[in-house]
Amino acid sequence: MPDRKQISFSEAKKLLEKYSIMVSGEVSGADLNEMKAAAKKTGYPVVLKTNSETIVHKSDIGAVILNIQNSDDLEKAFGTINGNISKAGYEKQEQFLLQKMAQPGFEVLIGAHQDPVFGPLIIVGSGGKYVELLKDTAPGIGLLTDKDVEEMLSLTKAGKIIDGYRGEALDKKAVISIAVNISRLMAENRDILEIDLNPVVVYKNGYSLVDARVIRGTPVFAEAESEIPENIRKSLDRLLNPESVAVLGASRPGTMGGIILKNCMRIKRLYPVNPKRDFVQGLKCYKNIAELPEAPDVGIFIINAEGTVREFEEFCKCGGKGAVILSDGFAEVGRKDLEDSLVEISRKYGVAYIGPNCLGAINNFTGLNTFFIPEHRTSNIEEPNGIGIISQSGGLGLEIIEMMKADNMKLGKLVSIGNASGVGLPEILDNMGDDPDISVIAIYLEGIKNGKQFLEIGKKVTKKKPVLVIKGGVGGGAEATLSHTASLAGDVEAFKACCRQAGFYIIEDLTEDPKILVNILSLLTTNPMAHDDRIAVVSVGGGAGILIADQITAYGMKLAEFSEETKLALRSLISAKKTFGKNPIDLLGDCDDDRLLEAIRIIDRDPNVGGIITAIYLQVPYLSEYLADRLVDLKHSMTKPMIVSPRGFSDYVFNVRNYLYKKDFHTYTIPMIEPLNIALKIWKQYGRHF
Ligand code: ADP
Ligand code: MG
Repeated sequence: MPDRKQISFSEAKKLLEKYSIMVSGEVSGADLNEMKAAAKKTGYPVVLKTNSETIVHKSDIGAVILNIQNSDDLEKAFGTINGNISKAGYEKQEQFLLQKMAQPGFEVLIGAHQDPVFGPLIIVGSGGKYVELLKDTAPGIGLLTDKDVEEMLSLTKAGKIIDGYRGEALDKKAVISIAVNISRLMAENRDILEIDLNPVVVYKNGYSLVDARVIRGTPVFAEAESEIPENIRKSLDRLLNPESVAVLGASRPGTMGGIILKNCMRIKRLYPVNPKRDFVQGLKCYKNIAELPEAPDVGIFIINAEGTVREFEEFCKCGGKGAVILSDGFAEVGRKDLEDSLVEISRKYGVAYIGPNCLGAINNFTGLNTFFIPEHRTSNIEEPNGIGIISQSGGLGLEIIEMMKADNMKLGKLVSIGNASGVGLPEILDNMGDDPDISVIAIYLEGIKNGKQFLEIGKKVTKKKPVLVIKGGVGGGAEATLSHTASLAGDVEAFKACCRQAGFYIIEDLTEDPKILVNILSLLTTNPMAHDDRIAVVSVGGGAGILIADQITAYGMKLAEFSEETKLALRSLISAKKTFGKNPIDLLGDCDDDRLLEAIRIIDRDPNVGGIITAIYLQVPYLSEYLADRLVDLKHSMTKPMIVSPRGFSDYVFNVRNYLYKKDFHTYTIPMIEPLNIALKIWKQYGRHF
């Protein structure tokens, strides 16, 4: 625990005023005459409060008396406060604070603390006595701009009140300027660990800051380099797009080195290295790195930790370009010394490495696959597309691939970063951001070491392509994360602020099931872009359509209002019903293929519709075996995204879904609506399909 101490009122006032933040009040000694003179100078009505460095919530113990009208009342107030202080068990106070009684206004909280990962974390929101109860604040990290604070305010109810909710608008500019200045103060004074301005009483014009607490101590945040060295960027690029690969520790199938060698067989210039063998899996085996016919783009290391350090240096000396170090036995088991050696070698030769203690990398464009999972126990994806995944957990990376494969999805690249002492999340994100083959990036993340770098690279990448983030360790998992990876988990609030400011899409209902992420990726990569968030729900068999419609509005999307033309056309499909044609639309249990397909076609033409969800009970008698093929056909001609959700769990439903997957036609069960909501936002932001 760092040493922390509240600084005196006068010192705090001086510091804040240096940053153009005005604090109300004068300090007075505990002498009644001195106090009366000070009050006269301030001008009645006044407020008397203790100026203690130890009492945190002054009003809780009755050490704040408001609206004192004259010197007699001041004397009484002084007595009352002294009584209350001793009742609460505190020592007699030497100093008091006299303030002008501020006009009533709206009480705002502006606070800050130094986050060990991100540096200054500023919060703004509703202030006053009930801050903990109201919990109406929004965070921002780093040096804030006016726009950042504006956005933070827009996330709070306080922001709406300041904007003039049922009344006059208040001085938003003043609030913004205080928050911006506080962020500058925190960035320039790393020993200021915490600031609490509560309340800042805000008026139509101006403000009155009546309570300021400033804590100083040993800095917890150290500025780190955020530029990635150019040689490491280049090395990483070769490493992730290799043409030649050496596997150190290659052996027979069933061993880790053997599995990797087998998984990389698509690579033409593939070199097994193992001093004990002449041939491995039909390939000529080399005794050591020096013997290789060329300096390989990638060395994959799957030997013991000490051997890895030795061979990695050898690899660098021989001109190897980049390494994937799968071996464990480093920082995660207390051998930081060995891990430090890797870092040193990497710096010395300018050679990037992924790992150690990871599953490494998959590049389906070139055939690199360092995952040491036997082929028959997992489901590899070999066909590439624009999806790039970065995972801080190898296991979860594996699970995501299997989940994607189960939905017949493709995958461009995946990197499991492990201990990430060489290149980590920021470097891989930077690389995938620049990679023309990758159009959307998804990250599973537990902790970040250099928050500022992550934020800066993130901002750059999200200008070009969407980045989705799942964060592990935000609740009960937080403790496990700390010991799981050898890195610091950033404070959750700071992390969320970082995601917002970087422009990441954070998947909040997260960690139990990465299916939300997988379904977003699936929607984005298999549909044309939606132009707006007005959704049509078509069902065969009512109930499911109603539940879906409920969820659509619950997530803040809209149910499309069909045009008159659409309603008429839909009505012609079912002659009996005059009210027919409202969204959500139920095509009824006697629906046949033609009615369903025609309804979708009609709705696809309606300019009031952004996307279509169809919930179908395939089980009903008149939908035929040919519907699947006809849906595939229809999808090709559609201009809008169509989510098909076959309902139920019978063998028949299962078989049709499987058949559709084989035709590259994705169908969905839950979760579907949250993924759609995020996909719509991404389409809106980037204005293209993926
Ligand atoms: P604490 O937060 O330690 O309890 P404050 O100085 O914030 O003490 O005072 C408590 C509350 O009293 C404030 O939230 C505010 O509503 C009111 N208050 C304090 N000082 C003044 C003042 N000078 N003018 C008007 N109201 C004040
Ligand atoms: Mg206060």
